[in-house]
Amino acid sequence: MPDAPELIAVENPATGEVIDRLELAGPAAVDAAVQAARKAQPEWGAATPGERAAVLHRVAGLLEQRAEEFARTETRQCGKPIRLSREFDVPGTSDNATFFAGAARLLEGKASGEYSAEHTSSIRREPLGVVGSIAPWNYPLNMAGWKIFPALAAGNAVVIKPAEINPLTTIMLARLFTEVGLPDGVLTVLVGTGPVVGEALVSHPEVDMVSFTGSTPVGKRVAELAARGPRRVHLELGGKAPFVVFDDADLDAAVHGAVAGALINGGQDCTAATRAYVQRPLYDRFVDGVAELLDTVRMGDPGDPATDLGSLISAGQADRVHGFVSRALAAGARAVRGGTGPDRELGPAFYSPTLLVDAAQDAEIVRDEVFGPVLVVLPFDSDDQGLALANDTRYGLAASAWTRDVFRAGRASRELAAGCVWINDHIPIVSEMPHGGIKASGYGKDMSAYALEEYTAVKHVMSENTGIARKDWHRTVFSGVAGRSGGADV
Ligand code: NAD
Repeated sequence: MPDAPELIAVENPATGEVIDRLELAGPAAVDAAVQAARKAQPEWGAATPGERAAVLHRVAGLLEQRAEEFARTETRQCGKPIRLSREFDVPGTSDNATFFAGAARLLEGKASGEYSAEHTSSIRREPLGVVGSIAPWNYPLNMAGWKIFPALAAGNAVVIKPAEINPLTTIMLARLFTEVGLPDGVLTVLVGTGPVVGEALVSHPEVDMVSFTGSTPVGKRVAELAARGPRRVHLELGGKAPFVVFDDADLDAAVHGAVAGALINGGQDCTAATRAYVQRPLYDRFVDGVAELLDTVRMGDPGDPATDLGSLISAGQADRVHGFVSRALAAGARAVRGGTGPDRELGPAFYSPTLLVDAAQDAEIVRDEVFGPVLVVLPFDSDDQGLALANDTRYGLAASAWTRDVFRAGRASRELAAGCVWINDHIPIVSEMPHGGIKASGYGKDMSAYALEEYTAVKHVMSENTGIARKDWHRTVFSGVAGRSGGADV
């Protein structure tokens, strides 16, 4: 008798309730999905951009129609506040689908031309083939969209592995594609663990590109495995975003921006504001302002529209966050708010917003990604020092600068080493603009036309346009042959 399939329980982290039990895929399912993708891709790749756009448009439309169902499922499987799911995760994903539907029809390249007198050159942008995608648990629907839409828009087939703990909205999204007629095999979702399904996918010889979003350590492993192909790799990894407040900043705006930037999605956001550097004259007032604002944050039932902060992804994540905070306190930091551990009344996955001061720049809490509702505030004196402290990190995903001085803003936008720099805000993203990091935050771009380009191969087609048999340049190979001429008379 065959072994019973291994199941994974998808839990609501806020309550511990089991929402669903799913069968875990293994290496055989990876192989079957990749072979199906290989078979289906040529037809999908040959569809016109307009036909591919139509599929994406229809999916965007269905997502809008069923927005509430998606939002509720996202909130239940993540513990994130329903307001966030309704106002960001779901509409952001349908907007992204709409963007890539349009972008599919607007692939750009160099103009065709005679870059050598005898040849006409043109550029083709072709699909790569089969893309193996791996996504994290923090914004499951959104991340699935970021991976699937540009890859399909460019004519690839996709096999995607969401995080196995909350794959429900990725599966629902794939069903929308089936509903609108995407051919079988062009998109497959595999529910499985990283070491088994993730590694089998990125190592599969028939996978042409690996697109990964997740932590930096796992990203390194994925890049190593993919390099054995070798195959193209796109890595969206961790972050430790600085939030730099200069002494001329609008203090109220900076305080609100810091709290929103640190607490969004429970701080489980790769671009979350994690390290606020505040110029000395504003430092005390900034810390007081953030503390007061944190007191107004309502942590509770994620399904209640009045809730600001839901649970974290799991009790384990709350313990992990508390490990960082406890070590920071032991190393000399002071908790102005929070820092007391998982919430006893609400449940083990709830963690109160935590504001830390007096941490050293080289402390773990300032250097490593915590992925929880924790903000550390540090002072600085000169502009040079503030920017240097902000850049003193191995990550480079996002950063923000708060100032009303146009020259400071310009300098910060040039000098902050990150894939995105906000001026007087922190967090907003738009489908038209790229998202992606430098340094240990990875390489490659999600969203925008840049992402579409990543999922294509650039082909140069060079057509000789004189009809002359013996080309002038052949002299570099056949010594003694006279130059340009037309054939038999040489
Ligand atoms: P993670 O690295 O633990 O897991 C990400 C995905 O990789 C999951 O699907 C997981 O199952 C899979 N995986 C785990 N081990 C694997 C292996 N050996 N081979 C292949 N796949 C494997 O990350 P996470 O905890 O799910 O997500 C949080 C991380 O994601 C944070 O570091 C965050 O900053 C990062 N993130 C980055 C971005 C970005 O755009 N840069 C966006 C969201 C999240």
